[in-house]
Amino acid sequence: MGGGESGVGAAVLGQVKGLDVFLSDAGSIKPAYLKMLQERGIRYEQGGHSELLTLNADEVVKSPGIPDTAPLVQKLVKAGIPVISEIELAGRYAKAKTVCVTGSNGKTTTASLIYHIMKGAGLNVGLGGNIGKSFALQVAAEEYDYYVLELSSFQLDSMYNFKADIAVLLNITPDHMDRYDHSLERYARSKFRIAQNMDKKGCFIYCADDEVTMKYLPEIGIQAQLLGFSQKRQIIPGGFLNSNNTKLVSMYKNDVFEMLTDELSLKGKHNLYNSMAAVTAGQALRIKKENIRNSLISFESIEHRLEPVLRVGGVLFINDSKATNINATWYALESMTAPTVWIVGGVDKGNDYGELTELVKQKVKAIVCMGVDNGKIHEAFKGVAPTIVDTQSAEGAVKAAYNLSDKGDTVLLSPACASFDLFQNYEDRGRQFKSAIRYL
Ligand code: ADP
Repeated sequence: MGGGESGVGAAVLGQVKGLDVFLSDAGSIKPAYLKMLQERGIRYEQGGHSELLTLNADEVVKSPGIPDTAPLVQKLVKAGIPVISEIELAGRYAKAKTVCVTGSNGKTTTASLIYHIMKGAGLNVGLGGNIGKSFALQVAAEEYDYYVLELSSFQLDSMYNFKADIAVLLNITPDHMDRYDHSLERYARSKFRIAQNMDKKGCFIYCADDEVTMKYLPEIGIQAQLLGFSQKRQIIPGGFLNSNNTKLVSMYKNDVFEMLTDELSLKGKHNLYNSMAAVTAGQALRIKKENIRNSLISFESIEHRLEPVLRVGGVLFINDSKATNINATWYALESMTAPTVWIVGGVDKGNDYGELTELVKQKVKAIVCMGVDNGKIHEAFKGVAPTIVDTQSAEGAVKAAYNLSDKGDTVLLSPACASFDLFQNYEDRGRQFKSAIRYL
């Protein structure tokens, strides 16, 4: 069910492995995916699911975008038909070792960084899951000895027997609460599924400064070796800072890695966590320290994640369009070093803006709302930020922000919200933002 990257990948893998495959999409399938299905002679339908066919399946691979509450999914469950994710399917056939990364924020950054370290060390490694080509499609081609997989909680929810070799849980902060009955515990347990089935040979890498992770870690009973990372205390084995906070240190089986934090290519407190997680994973993979170090120096930041765009009239514009929740925006604001005009807003997934009040007081000189409904933002920051204005397009927001800024200021797009009230997705939002800056 679902004819996107993961669904089509699963269909191709199923076909390669000799299964009788049928793909069903309730909407329309993109031309590139249609072509893949047609070229391989895989049967499909679009514009609706034929229930008879679907309910006749031995097993259904469901795209992570389709919620468990969708009526047809409920019918499948009722009928006792297993519903799994594409990762679960591909995991059955993959002979390669997997490094799996999950968390509320930082998944793409950290998975890409680990991939960069592994590639730099000469390993034959693929990157998949939520990024780039689906895991299933890559397994169908059997190209790699290792995979780094970015996994969302929606994928993890439909994973049962999959076993990661190394699992990284970056953090757990409220997100997608609408799909978890507004229960942080349900969402947290879903994230911890990344460690299910692991044994003593596996490594579970987690953030020891993350309250929610630490609350549930003891109850979950993880069998794998535990490797923590922290910016507050020393953890052995694991990653931490030296006594004067100038070096990232990581210790694993008598192996000590040390590196000046100033040398890290990714900046900001959140990225220091991501770098710590990646170093710990690198050590667990027995990658040479020199290789890990060089890769941390050479890694380039990723589009839409605290991406510096341009300086116009002495004002620096930063694109953090991928910040779709409060926690991501908290770290973006925290890393600001100049007076900031903050562009925020969109579709709110249950935000508590109160968590940002202190940072807004310290760093923000004006707020530019960019959304269809900005009421909650006004309510939260009235009297906290000196100026709050409303806009309803990237162009309007960029112009307003530029007018409100002075030489030496920063304009930060870090919306803390999803984008689909005004844009197709966060990439579209980020690109429209960047293009509006170039027209100033
Ligand atoms: P994900 O794939 O989990 O959405 P990304 O790496 O794409 O994460 O980053 C998403 C947003 O979260 C960006 O705005 C980024 O600046 C911010 N971010 C990245 N790493 C972290 C972290 N460890 N903690 C909090 N926020 C983070």
